Amino acid sequence: MAKKLDTLNLFPQAAKEVVTPVRMVAGKDPSTDQSETGKLWKQCLDIIRDNVSQQVFKTWFEPIRSISWENREMTVQVPSQFFYEWLEEHYYGLLQKTIYQVLGAHARLKYEVVVENTTETLEQRTIKLPAFRQSPASSVQTQLPFTPTAPVQANFPAYLNPRYTFDNFINGESNQLAFSAAQAVSENPGRTRFNPLVLYGNTGLGKTHLVQAIGNRIIEKNRMARVLYTTSERFTMEYVNAIQSNKVNEFTAFYRSVDVLIVDDIQFFAGKEKTQDNFFHTFNSLHQQGKQLILTSDRPPKELQDVDDRLISRFQWGLTADVQLPDYEMRMAILQRKSLDEGMEMPLAIVEYIARHVTSSVRELEGCLISLIAKVSLDGREATLDLAKEVVRGVTGGSGMLRPLNMDDIKEEVSTYYGLPIDLLAGKTRKHEVVLARQVCMYLAKQLTNMSLKSIGSHFGGRDHTTVLHSIQMIENYLDTDRTVAQSVELLRKKVSHD
Ligand code: ADP
Ligand code: MG
Repeated sequence: MAKKLDTLNLFPQAAKEVVTPVRMVAGKDPSTDQSETGKLWKQCLDIIRDNVSQQVFKTWFEPIRSISWENREMTVQVPSQFFYEWLEEHYYGLLQKTIYQVLGAHARLKYEVVVENTTETLEQRTIKLPAFRQSPASSVQTQLPFTPTAPVQANFPAYLNPRYTFDNFINGESNQLAFSAAQAVSENPGRTRFNPLVLYGNTGLGKTHLVQAIGNRIIEKNRMARVLYTTSERFTMEYVNAIQSNKVNEFTAFYRSVDVLIVDDIQFFAGKEKTQDNFFHTFNSLHQQGKQLILTSDRPPKELQDVDDRLISRFQWGLTADVQLPDYEMRMAILQRKSLDEGMEMPLAIVEYIARHVTSSVRELEGCLISLIAKVSLDGREATLDLAKEVVRGVTGGSGMLRPLNMDDIKEEVSTYYGLPIDLLAGKTRKHEVVLARQVCMYLAKQLTNMSLKSIGSHFGGRDHTTVLHSIQMIENYLDTDRTVAQSVELLRKKVSHD
């Protein structure tokens, strides 16, 4: 299996692309193509597959066809201009690293945009790439990246993805402290009390985005700043390589020469004692020099396992801030903002649907949106609620991400439908419409969950099981006698159970 890219030492300078005139060449299916081109492209796909979600892979990489591999140039065919732009905007770094990894330092990636059913020739054009920082070591393939670069220079190998900025990071209650601290650090690296700055939280909640945004902002303000982003895994691997090639001194000197050291996912230092020891001394040296350290972890530092206590105590010197799951309002904000950024305004009902059903991470929210946009722009489908449901099912399907139905889902749906504040449902009000809504909730809970009558009652201010039973019977009567109620209940049943 191919390795995750962020654990590899790669010099980010490999890919360059040109969009050529449309040419009708039948690209071959990578799964069956046995030519050299096909085999090489398949190797690229293997790496890519390991670095993106299954959904992204299916949407954006499976449709690519390899055409030729000549003069260190891999030509691939993509189905539309939009497709090409999307790849470049979102997967430029990944493609570049992959091409470098499989095809070598001077390889280039060339796209052909093939618009079906047209023989029209588009004018040749070169699309400008986002600026890419060139590693000083990059021209010499065999050199280790941490070989000290003599004079301090602007194009220090920062390994930052320019896509991660503060501008496109949405802040809210769930990440407020982390966001504010990150901004403060980026304004005054090494000179705040937040040293180290440690961000922790579950996967897909924006830690990498935030710490890279710090790096990008610092470089934006000062091109000479030596900012280095790495992961604990890459640090470990480079250290091991350094030992093997007798270059521990260079390794150590290199890491101690940076102004801002960002180490992502420090939980992977677990159990690597020698690496931890080296990192401990690097940490001390940088801290003493007033250099900024920024770390992320999937858990609070004191819960890190198999990490030396003295390191853990260092991690707690500065500020530790968590990033939490975004709440409903923030999920809405994220989706709205991201769809605008992608140039596609989504109908409110769709945004609401996704925000309500995709709750496990921002990454999954993005996944849904990308897949939705792809279906609309590529397959020409209409942005409807049904399409949103299909996409949510696709992205969450099998991963068990949709929570089992619970009372809150039911209350939320029912209160929205009847236009009532959700709190009233559990309260004492005997107003007709509140009573009806309350009874509908109880009925749906009985129908759609395996909650007991007692437990249903507990969600409504501790009403006892006979009250719950009575409510359910009331609704059952209505179903036979009152068409309006019957229709409402049927509609709500569908909504609540995503039918
Ligand atoms: P983590 O490092 O915590 O696993 P990432 O930083 O990789 O998470 O975030 C996953 C994806 O979600 C990225 O594409 C990132 O840009 C996006 N993302 C996460 N949080 C936010 C946010 N608050 N605003 C905008 N995008 C976000
Ligand atoms: Mg991360």
